Amino acid sequence: MWIISTFGVEGELMSSIVFVVDIDGTVADTMGRIRDLEQRTGSALMTGWGDKETNEFLEPSIMMRDPIINGANRLLDIISSFGATLAFFTGRSERSREQTKQWLTSKLSIPTETPLFMRPDDDYRPTHVCKTDMIERQLLPAYPDSKFIFLEDDAESLKSFSKYGLALKAPDCWNVIVGPIC
Ligand SMILES: [Mg+2]
Repeated sequence: MWIISTFGVEGELMSSIVFVVDIDGTVADTMGRIRDLEQRTGSALMTGWGDKETNEFLEPSIMMRDPIINGANRLLDIISSFGATLAFFTGRSERSREQTKQWLTSKLSIPTETPLFMRPDDDYRPTHVCKTDMIERQLLPAYPDSKFIFLEDDAESLKSFSKYGLALKAPDCWNVIVGPIC
């Protein structure tokens, strides 16, 4: 696989790599909904949403209809088959944990126990600021001595993540050429 051959990583070494996967705009096709919400409320995602925007965006009956971004499921399957660790890492708040897990397990071929790191409730800082804090407070302690590959669509977050590992731009990162090894 492209990612693996790029790093020259094989076998048991893969288990020390954590693929940290964003949700919105990376595996869930929600960018149309986000743009619509931003236009209607005048509240941009990157400058922080409040309760109103967050509740509307995470309304379960709407959220469960979000489609998967092309190629995500296929590549996540391959990554898992190589024994790498997967973790989801989202700017969605904790209040939506149950419905987010439900969406992930119903749409993607992943184990139900796949870790899900979420924004604390009432943290309305811009996504890249909040997520950088989440790396320090949640991710690094959870995976000491691991290497991180971030799959993320937000440009500001990608810049911040590059300090902690390899940061790959979604959804382009799903469009890799997979060779016969897979
Ligand atoms: Mg995103």
